[in-house]
Amino acid sequence: MLSKVYFKPVAPHAPVEIIQRTARELLACVVEREAVKLSAKAALKVHFGEKGNVTYIPAESYTGMIHYLKEKGVECCFMETSVLYGGMRFNRERHTQLALEHGFTQVPVVIADGAEGEEFTEIPIHGKHFEKCRIGKAFAEYDQMIVLSHFKGHRLAGFGGAIKQLSMGCASKGGKLDMHFGINPKIIDRKCKRCHLCQTRCHSNAITIGSRSFIDDSKCVGCGACYSVCPHKAVSVMTVRGILKALLTLRAFPERLAEYALAAQKGKRNIYLNFALNITKHCDCESTPQKAFLPDIGVFASTDPVAIDEACYEAVKRLGKKFRGHAQITYAEKIGLGSREHELVTLSD
Ligand code: SF4
Ligand code: SF4
Repeated sequence: MLSKVYFKPVAPHAPVEIIQRTARELLACVVEREAVKLSAKAALKVHFGEKGNVTYIPAESYTGMIHYLKEKGVECCFMETSVLYGGMRFNRERHTQLALEHGFTQVPVVIADGAEGEEFTEIPIHGKHFEKCRIGKAFAEYDQMIVLSHFKGHRLAGFGGAIKQLSMGCASKGGKLDMHFGINPKIIDRKCKRCHLCQTRCHSNAITIGSRSFIDDSKCVGCGACYSVCPHKAVSVMTVRGILKALLTLRAFPERLAEYALAAQKGKRNIYLNFALNITKHCDCESTPQKAFLPDIGVFASTDPVAIDEACYEAVKRLGKKFRGHAQITYAEKIGLGSREHELVTLSD
């Protein structure tokens, strides 16, 4: 099936008012030309940018779209999930604080996987890598997401766009563990201070703290809350087995991303906008300033996450650069997430 991708070029270093107007125009264009029924409420799936990062898509870029959605009677929130590693995006409290510091104040901020990443919904997909995927629980309350992605490079995935925003971006902490390591956390007994904090967060009664502290694998559901909460870094996935498994399955990482993206999109009428601006070699999770290595291209919009990523990937190629990680697109198409074949419709002023 031929999907449509709408595109509007943006001149290099355009003022934010131009980005606001462009994003609003493209959103309205997809809604009207693709006859997308807007829901009464929609989650704006964004990335708030790690502290110290300066090239994430700024909050003001979304203001025009938010006004458009409000005019259409759609109630919105910014929705995100917490990450596996440290930094300000590690748990709900710090992540929300960062979002507000970065100006994401136009609508409420919701961290979809709870205080420590423990809240998720299991979505069955019966895939090659996952029977079911753990998606941040709050996403289940929405049948529509407006998925707003910064198209740029990524150390592990090669690049990140709509597919990565859906997969890693919507997965709960346990889902992220699944995609990266495929094992549940372990307690490193010699580091454990017997404070019992992890036990208070474990809904599966899987943790024993005593003369030997350990996690019962048969009870653990891999939510990651203990890993998130331990103040002494005594809970880890960086065990020899975890690292070996991650290395041995590295080639399948793009496929695991695509399967999670399929789960996150299941049953939803999503709209995707990719911002191919400030295109950096690494992602917005980097906590140090980066510089764009390509000129700004513009903003893309579609109802198809595969088509929109393919369109951005091709646009980068036309500039003489090629990201690694195209397998996430080809595998996503293979499992039915969308279609690489698309018609690029360029909007003019
Ligand atoms: S939170 Fe960490 S230090 Fe405290 S009991 Fe659990 S593993 Fe041990
Ligand atoms: S032991 Fe397992 S189920 Fe319990 S908090 Fe840790 S990851 Fe979650």
